[in-house]
Amino acid sequence: MKVERAKITVRGAVQGVGFRPHVYRLATELALQGWVINASAGVLIEVEGVSETLRQFLLRLEKEKPPRAELQGVEFSILDPVGYKGFEIRFSDQQGPKTVLILPDVATCADCLKDILEPANRRHGYPFTNCTNCGPRFSILEALPYDRPNTSMRKFIMCPNCTREYHDPRDRRFHAQPNACPRCGPQLEVWAPDETIRGQGYDAFSQAADLVREGHILALKGIGGFQLIVDATSERAVTTLRARKRREEKPFALMYPSLEEAREDCRVSALEERLLLSPESPIVLLERRTAATRLASSLAPRNPALGVMLPYSPLHHLLVRALGRPIVATSGNLSSEPMCTDNREAVARLHGIADAFLVHDRPIVRPVDDSVVRVVRERELVLRRARGYAPLPVQMSAGLPCVLAVGAQSKNTVALSVGSKVFLSQHIGDLETGHGLSAFDQVAADLPRLYEVTPEFIACDLHPDYVSTKYAWKRPESVHLVQHHWAHALACMAENEIEAPALAVVWDGAGFGSDGTIWGGEFLLAEGAVFRRVAHLHPFQLSGGEAAVWQPRRAALGVLFELGGDGAIQDPTLAPVQGLGTVELSLIRRMLAEASSASATTSAGRLFDAVASLVGLRQQVSFEGQAGMELEFAIEQGVHDAYPFEVEEGEPYVVDWRPMIRQVIEDLRADQPLGRIAALFHNTLAQMVLAIAQRVEEEKVVLTGGCFQNRYLTEHCVDMLRSAGFRVYWHQRVPPNDGGIALGQVIAAARFAEQCSSATQKAVA
Ligand code: ZN
Ligand code: ZN
Ligand code: FE
Repeated sequence: MKVERAKITVRGAVQGVGFRPHVYRLATELALQGWVINASAGVLIEVEGVSETLRQFLLRLEKEKPPRAELQGVEFSILDPVGYKGFEIRFSDQQGPKTVLILPDVATCADCLKDILEPANRRHGYPFTNCTNCGPRFSILEALPYDRPNTSMRKFIMCPNCTREYHDPRDRRFHAQPNACPRCGPQLEVWAPDETIRGQGYDAFSQAADLVREGHILALKGIGGFQLIVDATSERAVTTLRARKRREEKPFALMYPSLEEAREDCRVSALEERLLLSPESPIVLLERRTAATRLASSLAPRNPALGVMLPYSPLHHLLVRALGRPIVATSGNLSSEPMCTDNREAVARLHGIADAFLVHDRPIVRPVDDSVVRVVRERELVLRRARGYAPLPVQMSAGLPCVLAVGAQSKNTVALSVGSKVFLSQHIGDLETGHGLSAFDQVAADLPRLYEVTPEFIACDLHPDYVSTKYAWKRPESVHLVQHHWAHALACMAENEIEAPALAVVWDGAGFGSDGTIWGGEFLLAEGAVFRRVAHLHPFQLSGGEAAVWQPRRAALGVLFELGGDGAIQDPTLAPVQGLGTVELSLIRRMLAEASSASATTSAGRLFDAVASLVGLRQQVSFEGQAGMELEFAIEQGVHDAYPFEVEEGEPYVVDWRPMIRQVIEDLRADQPLGRIAALFHNTLAQMVLAIAQRVEEEKVVLTGGCFQNRYLTEHCVDMLRSAGFRVYWHQRVPPNDGGIALGQVIAAARFAEQCSSATQKAVA
């Protein structure tokens, strides 16, 4: 039986209520090894044992809790065991620099929900109710320490009742910094697009609910920014939102009044249920039931999954209850820009999109988007890390030099090391737009200011044209460049608390390679503080460079060219060739014929695009990775074989996918169903990973990069590698996509700095 370690954080009213003795009794009864400790983030537990016993422990931890303990959330990661002996209650060590932990925004707790729903309660219907167990934190914090004068609640003077609660140690609102009530706290207003006030307080709320009910678009000031809200059952409302937001096909997230209502439209597993109800309250990708017919069909076109969340603030609770149906709740912005946070800014930027604005007078200090997660092999996988997660740190085993890492270009996040903790910022977004860039500037300045540190180094991507890289060079600190895929690998290793040696399979759309070409289908062997590129996918030409991201057809033509040269891309029976004008085709032919090996790519993401195009699924996309996503959705379950492929022996190994593509074309000619081809393609990719792992013979294998957002691919790689005896690691609470890059950059730069300083010390000695 395999022994694993569960690393658990329990949040809520768990201190001083006999919770640690409960943990101790339970762990010893189940004969688990490890420890428990009180910390500022809650109660931290590490237990080791076989997975089944760990599962029981997690279950009983909540079920058999002491009566006065209120558990707000139980978060956990599954890691390798470290070999604890016995179980102990540890005491917090007072040594070393104290890093103040800034808590993320926490979803409304059950007690506060009761308060706002009870007609006799003084907070009945009050949308800014919170307590020490719940409410806004990171989104209202201006500086440390976390006291009311350092938050955007500063301007609200507490009434006598609230003051009494705030100072009463027995009260749930004892030192609850954003404590408020209808008499003294923030108030709602509903604004017309020209900023005229249409209503205030409860009247504003009911007007806003009516507008949504009538099919209008409401801009709602939420916890970390503005959201656009429409009735999810109204086809007209959803298509209007798409048109105005200029978001053609990307799925919209839904908010349901309750878990029961969400179950009517989606399948919800036990872990998914736990995530939906967690204090992080993220958007969870759920499998849609085929009978989910009440929803507007343009919500998530051709998508068997739905992004679902439950209300996480009193305002959301009140709104979805008043409406009694699911709503679309999407970021208040134009596609890929950061969300608006300020009332007037929202009115200006959402002009022409929103029909009305439900605003309030509690300022949002920084934008914090909704987080997105999905479940992979019974573990949480964070795809967008923001509200509820940021800025919780990744804990390292030893102190690091202070590094500020500025991330990549799309799905940007920023990271900062302070002592042995690495703080990963909330999702910022794509840096191509002016708004994205200014949000990035803010966060890069915000993190070191909040934690009161001055970075010694700046870490950035090797890509010279990334906006974040250019920013790094403008800073006074010395700059450390980190290869994109190496950063992915280090992020995944750090999250799983593993050290080199390890084989990292890093598959994504694109990243600047050490040789100046575009990489993306990489196998990197981590050796100490450096990596060796031990294998990669066979390269192919991508005509049109970056623009090819939006045209899977370009990837397909590059792949065909690699297969059979100029002749292969003129076969009119192939989907990527069909519908291509003669002018465009001859342009592409010339580009491919004249291309040099320097402009080739090894990208796995683009290989997904190529196959999606070949099978006729997609020639154009409206968001990055769309073609690959649709190929995953098309998979027919229960197909176990794979296509042929070859491995060219050498250093590095080259995985040749051409035999696979030839077979795909033959299957297309033989009218094989799309679902079967999609499954065979995915199975082949997993076989490729296994083939290289078996050649490299490194026990630890790490799966990272945007392609491992794909559940089928990840689960198949995990299963195949495991049954061949490998230990497999993938992401849990750090995104596999470029949102995790900054964490890896911090580690690369810190390791480099440590080596330099130890080299200097040796030289001095
Ligand atoms: Zn509460
Ligand atoms: Zn009050
Ligand atoms: Fe990447």
